[in-house]
Amino acid sequence: MIKLEREAEPQIMISNKAQWQKDLQDAIAVYGKYKDIPKIEKKKLTSFYRNDAVREGLIKSSEGKCAFCECIPSEGGNIEIEHFKPKSEYPELTFEWDNFLPSCRKCNGSKGTHDTVLEPIINPYDTDPNNVFHFVDIEIKASNTDMKQIAEKTIEVCGLNTLRLWKPRAEILLSLRIFTKAIEEAIEELTDADTQRKKEIRINKLREAIDTIEMLTNSSEKYSSFCSDFLRRSEVYLNAKSLVKDA
Ligand SMILES: [Zn+2]
Repeated sequence: MIKLEREAEPQIMISNKAQWQKDLQDAIAVYGKYKDIPKIEKKKLTSFYRNDAVREGLIKSSEGKCAFCECIPSEGGNIEIEHFKPKSEYPELTFEWDNFLPSCRKCNGSKGTHDTVLEPIINPYDTDPNNVFHFVDIEIKASNTDMKQIAEKTIEVCGLNTLRLWKPRAEILLSLRIFTKAIEEAIEELTDADTQRKKEIRINKLREAIDTIEMLTNSSEKYSSFCSDFLRRSEVYLNAKSLVKDA
């Protein structure tokens, strides 16, 4: 999970949400409760937020990734528009732009109708997840902060420590290990350089090896928080960075 910035609210929402919300509230008044509105009618009344402008705005803000697990849903289905505060509990937020998140089907399904007001979880638009999560091997953990419980709840509610995420993290970990090895070798070669010319060439090689591993931390990359966390704690990488800086 990485920090996301909201895009501007799409005009279609600004122009129509008051009317859509009113129609929904009228139906709630007729049937008594949101959940008592007949299914077909409910679907019809709420479906308006599922439009291209909303989807595009959300996809842009997360660079096509799921806001929770950082997978790229388009590889295995479409991104879903998730209500952070579930519309079943808070129907008055059905058309609220700030209540939307781009989510994959797995995270959306896992979160379900979890009440984020009663039991808060991290919203990456509002809190920098970098400060509250870290990884141990392929497992995501809640860091020791005053948000530890909320972070733990997020992992549980969104299913962030399950096989579907362990598998890709394990694959990335393999790449990270291979790229780290390349950095290690480049450092060794640099240490052995006995002329200024050789030193320059080998510093460049080291720079390239650093660039390669850092590509995995680009915000547009899948599971970039996992890669950033790995590099933050990699002695080899940190050593390489300081060697290049001093060169
Ligand atoms: Zn997800």
